Amino acid sequence: MGTSGKDQSSRTRLVTGGRRKDWTGAVVNPPVWRASTHLYEDMAALKAARPNADGQFYYGRRGAPTQWALAEALTELEPGAAGTMLYPSGVAAIAGALLTVLRPGDVLLMTDNAYEPSRAMGRGLLADFGVETRWFDPLDLAAFETAICERTRAVLLEAPGSLTMEVQDVPALCAAARARGVTSVLDNTWASPLGFQALAHGADISVMSLTKHVGGHSDLMMGSASAGADWYTGMRRTAQALGQVVSPDDAALALRGLRTMGLRLEHETASALRIAEWLALRPEVGKVLCPMLPGSPGHDLWRRDFTGGCGLFSFVFKGGTADARNAFIDALDLFGIGYSWGGFESLITPVDPAPIRTASRWPLPGMAADDRFGVRLSIGLEDTDDLIADIEQALRVWSAS
Ligand SMILES: *Cc1c(COP(=O)(O)O)cnc(C)c1O
Repeated sequence: MGTSGKDQSSRTRLVTGGRRKDWTGAVVNPPVWRASTHLYEDMAALKAARPNADGQFYYGRRGAPTQWALAEALTELEPGAAGTMLYPSGVAAIAGALLTVLRPGDVLLMTDNAYEPSRAMGRGLLADFGVETRWFDPLDLAAFETAICERTRAVLLEAPGSLTMEVQDVPALCAAARARGVTSVLDNTWASPLGFQALAHGADISVMSLTKHVGGHSDLMMGSASAGADWYTGMRRTAQALGQVVSPDDAALALRGLRTMGLRLEHETASALRIAEWLALRPEVGKVLCPMLPGSPGHDLWRRDFTGGCGLFSFVFKGGTADARNAFIDALDLFGIGYSWGGFESLITPVDPAPIRTASRWPLPGMAADDRFGVRLSIGLEDTDDLIADIEQALRVWSAS
């Protein structure tokens, strides 16, 4: 690597990140180091090994060049990060960050549109360890400030939120948290650092499910958490205590995905916006919830703070029933029915946030009370016109149901 790395655009860093000569050797990509044991030349070498140094062989649980290259590439994409921890899944990354920050007796504030397994962590694991989770309306900054109390130690943000896609005012929320000594953890899976620089906007820890955009091919599970030196060191300690490590094969796949992530996100963002605009004009559609679309909740914040989007958005039908919505989903040919998103192929899931939320209402303010039955689309790399034609024929099925 040259010397100008710091000033290069993230597009270039996607290509160059983590490709240290002593990790890649004479080839382009770091080889897959399948290793538990690292062998030492002699006793002097064993003694000289610094067991806690990054990028040094020690033992398989501390990784090998394949994992180090991925972690370093992710750190280079996140301005303000001193390091990145890799986890076996996105949920493990959220747990790794929260278990580093929180202690028994603490209060965690969690955005009401958080990913459901994050909510479950608050109700379950964290509660069992003596941490109390309280939920807040993602769009109500004043309510958030009032909710901060003496015992509040951390806040978990997500922008845009899972399923309902409201964009939060992350800089304002993080600033309010910091002023009261509260640590901000942002689930940045939707935008990735290409679309939103979490630490530069005030978050202390930026978490991503690499299963989504970074993997990009629906064939691996992984998560990451990037932070400045203090929290990075803390998360490293927690991950080592919990024995967390990712496989070198998966790290190599994630690195391969990372190299093309920029192109995929650009295509998916443009395609999703075209489909969102088309849907917004359809008589069957009540509201399109897509951060890139003017009029969507939080679109102005997205314009102000984000430099990119992705293919994931939701819409609700104008009235109708759950059965009609389900018939629409079943009628689609090009959209697989399944959880996850961010792969090369389009997916769809139903959206039913009402029973999940506790601190904010659904339908969202400004939406008609009858417009409740939604779907979430993950737009892949198929031709946009083909996807629109598929949705159009399924809308006819919805109307007939
Ligand atoms: C999928 C997802 C996660 C969890 O990631 P896994 O890798 O599936 O564990 C976390 N946050 C968001 C917003 C997600 O969509």
